[in-house]
Amino acid sequence: MQLSCEKTIFMQKAIYYRTKLLAARGIIELTDRYLNFQVSTLDSRFGIRNLSIDICSIRDIRIKGGNIHPSIVVTSGDDSYEFVLSRANILYDKLKALQKDPVTDVRLKKPSPRRCDCGKWISPDYKYCPWCGSEK
Ligand SMILES: [Zn+2]
Repeated sequence: MQLSCEKTIFMQKAIYYRTKLLAARGIIELTDRYLNFQVSTLDSRFGIRNLSIDICSIRDIRIKGGNIHPSIVVTSGDDSYEFVLSRANILYDKLKALQKDPVTDVRLKKPSPRRCDCGKWISPDYKYCPWCGSEK
């Protein structure tokens, strides 16, 4: 797991299912930017690597399975990742909330600044140029 200054929102023991037959125990961690999975030393010999999924890249989040062993399936790009953990529903809620976070929205949309006739770059939501005062 990479060390970072991100805020940890959720952390719990989990099992990461690479396939139905290939799984690794470890720790799942949700920060305000990434969903990380750290494979336990014991299971790292199966060749499953630590994961770090950018929340901005997550297209779909689903809850699967019963009440005893719920799992969360996260789709990022063309890949799906399945994790089994006892509090999967809490992680699901937190992930969903994070996806709606305005900070995440801004990062996703990346509004591009416009260039005024006077040559200055201005925010797209300005009605008037703060430098020359011309109307946009
Ligand atoms: Zn201007």
